[in-house]
Order: sequence, then structure tokens, then C-alpha cells
Amino acid sequence: MVLDPGPQAKSQPRMTGSVQPQYDCIVMGAGPGGGTVASLVAQQGWKTLLVDRDPMPRFHVGESLMPETYWTFERLGVLEDFRRIAFTRKYGVQFVSGDGKESRAFVFSEHEPRASAMTWHVERAELDCLLFDTAAKHGADCRDLTRIIDFQLNPNGDGKHSVNVQLPDGSRHHVWTKVLVDASGQQALIANRLGLVNVDPKLKKAAIWGYFSDAARNPVIEPEVTCILHTEDKLAWFWYIPLSDGRVSVGAVGDNDYLLKSGMSPEDRFEWLRRRCPGVLKRLESATLTTPLRVAKEFSYTTSRRAGDGWVLVGDAYGFIDPVYSSGVYLALKSGEWAADAIVEGLRTNDLSAQQLGRWTPQFDQGVHWIRKLVHAFYCNEFSFGAFMKEYPQYGPNLTDLLIGKVFEGEPGRIFDDLDPWMEKSIALGRDCSLTDPMAPRDENVPDAFLC
Ligand SMILES: Cc1cc2nc3c(=O)[nH]c(=O)nc-3n(C[C@H](O)[C@H](O)[C@H](O)COP(=O)(O)OP(=O)(O)OC[C@H]3O[C@@H](n4cnc5c(N)ncnc54)[C@H](O)[C@@H]3O)c2cc1C
Repeated sequence: MVLDPGPQAKSQPRMTGSVQPQYDCIVMGAGPGGGTVASLVAQQGWKTLLVDRDPMPRFHVGESLMPETYWTFERLGVLEDFRRIAFTRKYGVQFVSGDGKESRAFVFSEHEPRASAMTWHVERAELDCLLFDTAAKHGADCRDLTRIIDFQLNPNGDGKHSVNVQLPDGSRHHVWTKVLVDASGQQALIANRLGLVNVDPKLKKAAIWGYFSDAARNPVIEPEVTCILHTEDKLAWFWYIPLSDGRVSVGAVGDNDYLLKSGMSPEDRFEWLRRRCPGVLKRLESATLTTPLRVAKEFSYTTSRRAGDGWVLVGDAYGFIDPVYSSGVYLALKSGEWAADAIVEGLRTNDLSAQQLGRWTPQFDQGVHWIRKLVHAFYCNEFSFGAFMKEYPQYGPNLTDLLIGKVFEGEPGRIFDDLDPWMEKSIALGRDCSLTDPMAPRDENVPDAFLC
């Protein structure tokens, strides 16, 4: 939940014209998840409506991508647009410990050199608008400034859902659809209505972030890395994401109470944390904050059902883990792609059952499970990538697969055969990696980025 969505860029609708009374598929929300579903369903000739309450382009957090996003972008045909927009290219991640020790950047292509090893830092307004326009190009009716006011699942018992939308001129319309896709992000319209949302009790985090000019960047400008920088006491961490407009997105993440219930304003808390994060302090020495700080909280949850007869969830409406490994946009794209395939097949075979529309979800959940486990490890004081990789260097490629998002093929979970017992032992021994994360002893086989 973003508490301060900030000012929106404009209030003129991007798409005009009337909304039709009937659709094969209505997609609620035009983020990466919704844009992907709408494109791929419309591309196959099915009558599709994509709606978003905000004007496009609109601001959104989540700028650092995972390399495996490449394949969905390729399928959507937008890679050429990426070259035109010239998003900042991202070639790796770098970790900086609480005492300011910088690891060598971990370079994705060192594990498996290929086109998809290079990814991007994106301005989400531009990315999401590109996907919105792409859905329109593929034949979807795309409407921004159009709000879902209400919906009813199968009210007449004929399998069709009724959706009440409010258009930019304030008029309200009932629209019918065979398939309803919830891509409404953290609003999670269907899951909240049906009581399917389960907040992750171990990940009650919050974030405070803003955009800085004149912040330190790579001397060569780009490609760049996403930096993850711990504060001195390791109770919070910062993301540091250089963008193509010259600014850097900088955000602090920590337990909700630690971040937001300290008695300080978000601005004072951010400054307090910045002073306790040597890596960020150094990078922001000459920087100026160009936007009001924004705050988000309670963003990590799962849902207990992901599809029903004629409806399916994608992206954050399906669930969200945590910002640390930049998996959100990737999982929104991937779930959007797989949901679209299930919808197209279901429309073609006249089977829009929960089983058909959700047939991809077990495989998806399995992949997400491995990322979630790695996130939980990140927040555990007894865990250190470096110390573990020192003992088990053979897991280097496996860990890389998890970090780039290659979690839906092969055996990405193999690492946990040894990581789980290692963590248990570490906890039993009371090993505390919480301060400087001992920068575990160096080993030639361990990529430097894992050493903090
Ligand atoms: C603090 C923080 C940092 C993050 N950093 C990263 C990162 O670096 N990299 C990354 O990959 N991910 C990151 N994420 C996650 C990422 O932002 C999300 O996972 C991603 O945006 C999900 O895409 P989506 O399409 O599911 O939903 P969204 O992008 O949220 O889109 C949902 C859309 O639904 C629309 N909507 C909602 N309700 C209605 C309604 N009633 N009517 C019409 N439209 C509606 C909204 O306007 C919105 O445009 C971060 C998240 C947080 C909280």
C-alpha cells in the first residue's frame, strides 16, 4: 500500500471512445501484469478491455528489473521500444555492508552470457505506459482514468461477470465479461472482496523513498548496478537505483514499526537512516532530493486462491514478496503471460473453469517459493551469503539463477538442501552476521558480491 501516491502527471485520458457492453476479457489495472495479459489475449483476437483508474503515464515504484523479464518483453515485442526509450541498462547487483565495505559487483553475464543477462532500471511511468500502448496496438480497448467501482462474480448464474466502471466524464457503465482478470496491484480487488489475502507475518516491512539528482553514479554512466546497502546495525537497508533521467531512486526498507513508529516523521527517519548507512551517505554527499519522500507499508502478502470460475489473479493482486531482489515486476509479467495463455486456451475450448484459468499457478507458486525463501534468509541475522558460499561454492550458479529470476525451470531449489540445515546450524550456534556480516573469508570460487 503506497500511502502517498504523489501528484499524477496529467488528467487527460490517453484513450477515448466508448466502452463496449460485452467483452471476452476485462483486465482491472494496467501495470506490468495487466498490460501483459491484455496484450496477449487481444493479440489472439479476443475482445479485451484494459482499464486503469490513473492517467497514463502514471508514477509507480519498482524500477529495478530482474534479467528474466527479457523473455516476456521479447514476446510482447517491446525490446525495440526499450532501445528507443534508452532505459538505464543494469548488468548486476552490488551489496554494501553496514560498515561501508563494497563488494565487487556481481555481474549476471558471468554465469551465463546471453542477451537476457543485461536488464534495465526503468522509469515505471514509461514502462507501464509502453505496455498500455502495446495492448492497444494488439487490439485491446485500453482506457485510463477509468475506475472499477464494483464488480459481481457470476450474478446471473450464466458464468458472466458484471463490472461497473466509471469513465473520465464521471458516467458509470455496466459491462459484462466472460473472464475477469484482477491486475489491480496492491488494491487486490478480488482477493480483498473474497477474503483471500494473508499478510506475511515475517515480512511486515515498510519503505521510505525519494529521487535524488547529483547522486553518485558509475563513472562510465551506464550500464549500472542496483545497490543493496545495509545500515550500520543492519536493521534497515537501502536500494540505490540509477535512472536514465540522471536521477537515482533511493529507498530505505525495514520493519514497519522500526521505520514508521519511531516518533520521527518519514523525512527525519529517512535522514536518520541515511546517516547510519555509510554506503548511502557517501553516494548522496552532493545530492539533492527532487521529490517529496514517499511511504509504503504492508506490501508483503499471499493469497489463498488465485483463480475461480471465470476469474484469475496476476501480479501484486496475486501476491507480493518483498522489494529486496527486485522480483515484483518480473512476477507480474510472468503471471500475466501464463494467465493469458490459460485464458486464450479457455476461451477457445469454452472451458473457463477455475482449474483451467489457474492451471499454471502450481508451477508459478513453486518458483515464487524459492525467491521467498531467499528473502527470508536475507532478513535472518544468522545468514550470510558469503559464509554459506565459502562452505558450498558449488551453489554459485544456483544462487545466480535465483537472483536473475530463473526459478521456473531446472532445479532452482537444490541450494536449499544444504542452505536450510546450514541456517539451522547457524541459528543453533548463535552465529550473528547482523553487523558487518563478517565479510566471510574470501574464496576464489565465491563471487565477491556474495561476500557481504
Ligand atoms: C517499496 C517497493 C519497492 C519496489 N521495488 C521494486 C523493484 O525495484 N523492482 C521490481 O521489480 N518490483 C519492485 N516492487 C514491486 C512492484 O512495484 C510491483 O510488484 C509491480 O508494480 C506489480 O505490478 P502489477 O501489474 O501487479 O500492479 P501495479 O503495477 O501496481 O498496477 C496496478 C494498477 O491497477 C490500478 N488499479 C487499482 N485499483 C483500480 C481500480 N479500482 N480501477 C482501475 N484501476 C485500478 C492502479 O492504478 C495500477 O495502475 C516494489 C514494491 C514496493 C512496495
